Amino acid sequence: MPKFEDVSFQGKCDVCGQETEVVVAGSACGPVSFSYCRRCLEGRLEPYPFMAACIACAGQWPDDVNPGFRELVRRNLSFHGKTEKEFAADVERAIQVKTQIDMLPAHEGNP
Ligand SMILES: [Zn+2]
Repeated sequence: MPKFEDVSFQGKCDVCGQETEVVVAGSACGPVSFSYCRRCLEGRLEPYPFMAACIACAGQWPDDVNPGFRELVRRNLSFHGKTEKEFAADVERAIQVKTQIDMLPAHEGNP
């Protein structure tokens, strides 16, 4: 695995928003890549909206989420300053948005 400083470049961290040296790496939440600063990469932190959307695909927080992802989410919640109650509400909102998108006819953007 390459060293952070060997593959980093000046950019914006997708997790904390800081303009600094970042690397592009795969997310622990799903098959997508983000820019991570060293602190967020080493802390295994994820962009909050994406994490909520990923969990919404699994179901309700926390009952439908496996223990590994529950641990990942809880570690991230403390970084993002969110409570589990706030996260559960954000997951519920993401489920409702996904349901509305799923109900769109194909010509309105639904494949
Ligand atoms: Zn960061």
